Amino acid sequence: MFQPDLEAMKRSDLEGLQRERLKATLSLIYNRNPFYAKRFGSLGPRDITTLHDIRKFPFMTKDDLRDAYPLKYACADHAGLMRIHMSSGTTGTPIINPYTRSDIEQWGNIMARCYAAAGVTSRDVVQITPSFGLFNGGFGFHYGAEKLGAMIVPFGAGRTLLQLRFLRDFAVNCLTAISSYPLRLIEVAGKEKFDFHALPLRVGIFGAEVWSDEMRSRIEEKMGIKTFDIIGMTETGGVGLGIDCAEHRGIHVWEDDYLVEIIDPLTGEVLPDGREGEMVLTTLNREGLPLIRYRTRDITSIIGREPCTCGRTSLRVSRLKGRNDDMLKIKGVNFYPLQLESILMQRDEIGNHYQIVLEKIRGRDTITVMAETGGPVSADLSEEISTEIYDLLGFHIDRLELLPEGTIPRVPGKAVRVVDKRG
Ligand SMILES: [Zn+2]
Repeated sequence: MFQPDLEAMKRSDLEGLQRERLKATLSLIYNRNPFYAKRFGSLGPRDITTLHDIRKFPFMTKDDLRDAYPLKYACADHAGLMRIHMSSGTTGTPIINPYTRSDIEQWGNIMARCYAAAGVTSRDVVQITPSFGLFNGGFGFHYGAEKLGAMIVPFGAGRTLLQLRFLRDFAVNCLTAISSYPLRLIEVAGKEKFDFHALPLRVGIFGAEVWSDEMRSRIEEKMGIKTFDIIGMTETGGVGLGIDCAEHRGIHVWEDDYLVEIIDPLTGEVLPDGREGEMVLTTLNREGLPLIRYRTRDITSIIGREPCTCGRTSLRVSRLKGRNDDMLKIKGVNFYPLQLESILMQRDEIGNHYQIVLEKIRGRDTITVMAETGGPVSADLSEEISTEIYDLLGFHIDRLELLPEGTIPRVPGKAVRVVDKRG
């Protein structure tokens, strides 16, 4: 552990610390930003006696943060701010998170904890493949590795062939990436006869996109590594909100810095542990953009709050299933693209790239699944996959197109898994 005093804190102490930090966060908002404080009406730090009292406060949404562009909710002035990051949302007004010096420090600490949870030490070499810029990934991985004292290869995005060469020539032990990027590395490595198994590479820390267990097994097998699922978002201060440990029994969220609630996305009711719903986060140690009951839209559930066999005491949530808005509705059935990915990736004949295309044809929703194949396939494969989709998800896809490898366009950054042409 990087900060064992905080990571393995007794639950009663941890909850005491959360309560104190929650009150301090509310005081910060009241003292620094009356516009922000106005959201809470007459409620204030004095209304917090137990953690349960957080439920008196209203939720914050992505739209609230967009409306606050550029810095309406900032709780530090320009002199106190060191940096901004921006959410990678594709349309509309961006969401900005401004960081103070203390925020950058906090970020480095939780990222160092994440590396430590993945078994990375100061003796390791870390290659960072997310971009350095408004997207927070590159910097987050950088600060954490620096805190840990590991050697850093701050590569940034792209130039896959050179990435491979660096993995070998600098004897990299830990690869950090957006979760679909390893697939690109594997693809290029295959063409170049580059052997991952001959490298000292041991750990992969991947996130920023949902990725199925099946995809995960493929990556681990092809690269000969253990992978760790890291979560986080611009709004909460970037990557590093949580990670799974070597036990792989869910994702530890750093509870001394973040208060977690799971709600029913429709009613806003707080759900008991074990029930799946939308994750709502309150930051307990952030200054630039403290969040009170922020609706992340991420769908997950609390697996448990008892101490983990790894020694960490923070609660564990299940691997993220997708965002509320990723949920697709077709022919009256709701499902997540991840569920389709799981079905596809169970078949060895199917390659690592696929795309779901939704269209409206003569007023009717249609769904086409395009999947690349690794080589020759059996005549029945298409039929079998279609049946499996029907059995598991309850609808018939209109077409399954099996395509040669390399057909689906590779794009920089996050993979495009769904193309919705329905308007
Ligand atoms: Zn653990």
